[in-house]
Amino acid sequence: MQPTRFWQNRIIAPMEKKYPEFYQNQLCPMKGSAEDIFYGAAMGRSIRKLSQAKPFHLFSKVEIETINRCNNDCSFCPVNRNCDTRAFKMMSRDLFLSIIRQLEELQYSGSLCLFSNNEPLLDKRIVEFHQIARRFLPNSYIYLYTNGELLTIEKFQKLMRCLDYIIIDNYSDDMSLINPIKIIKDFIISDTDNNYQERALIQSFRKNAIRSTRGGQANNRHNLYQRKSSCVLPFSQLVIRPDGKISLCCQDALGKYTLGDLAQQPVLDAWNGEEYWKMRNLILKGGHQIDLCRFCDHFHYLFHPFSIKSQCRDKIRRNLEIIKISKKS
Ligand code: SF4
Ligand code: SF4
Repeated sequence: MQPTRFWQNRIIAPMEKKYPEFYQNQLCPMKGSAEDIFYGAAMGRSIRKLSQAKPFHLFSKVEIETINRCNNDCSFCPVNRNCDTRAFKMMSRDLFLSIIRQLEELQYSGSLCLFSNNEPLLDKRIVEFHQIARRFLPNSYIYLYTNGELLTIEKFQKLMRCLDYIIIDNYSDDMSLINPIKIIKDFIISDTDNNYQERALIQSFRKNAIRSTRGGQANNRHNLYQRKSSCVLPFSQLVIRPDGKISLCCQDALGKYTLGDLAQQPVLDAWNGEEYWKMRNLILKGGHQIDLCRFCDHFHYLFHPFSIKSQCRDKIRRNLEIIKISKKS
């Protein structure tokens, strides 16, 4: 087992479950503070340097949320079905096509996912939208997170023809696999022709787990560490809501900030627009300058367009571990 896995699985996870108060009041702020100090200065310098580049570089991560709803009730999540305050919205087909065609014109080859703070399979067009994205953006790294509740073998197969990678988050308090995910897992194990084992990860979380603060918005996080460092995401990530409006980052679950509007302006105009730069200039001065960033413990370090690939390499290994374990049992 890798050291990080050992630390996470044998020490952190059991402690979080057994002593939730101690975990969130003592350990989480300590971890936030350590990350802030360790990465803050170096990240600040590299972000400043990149922000001065002329012309300013293109985003390397795109999230398109085509429907703003989830069907699950994870207690740590500000958009769980019991507390989501967003007005219901679904992206129009025309807007989706327009965004994809603009990315095609830009020869976009970074990562792309058709979800952000939602359950993507609630959108019945999701398979078709992936087919379109794959067709027009053959060099993009397309991946998907889903809670698996609506996943069937047929949908999984169709999606996997377009996806580079899928991450299926299984949420249950006793960590047992929910039925649809159990079926998909058996299917992945039995299939030997489509390298699914290398392109799919099933990971389990408790619905009541204490996880990141989601920009200080997680309902089960209190005693929050106040962040000082800057953040790379507004310099590298484009998060598009169903109505075309652009959020600050993937942690802006409720769309508190709007940095552009793709229903009204081209992608590049928004990316280089005044609203974006207003927020970038603020965050260059430190995380405490923006309300959402102040208590955010999401430290995202890399600019590399395929950072998700290296995350996935680790996940692939973990996935194989999961499958090996299940084969034994
Ligand atoms: S964490 Fe994911 S599955 Fe859970 S409520 Fe939030 S969006 Fe839904
Ligand atoms: S600090 Fe957190 S909330 Fe602020 S831009 Fe970065 S990820 Fe988003």
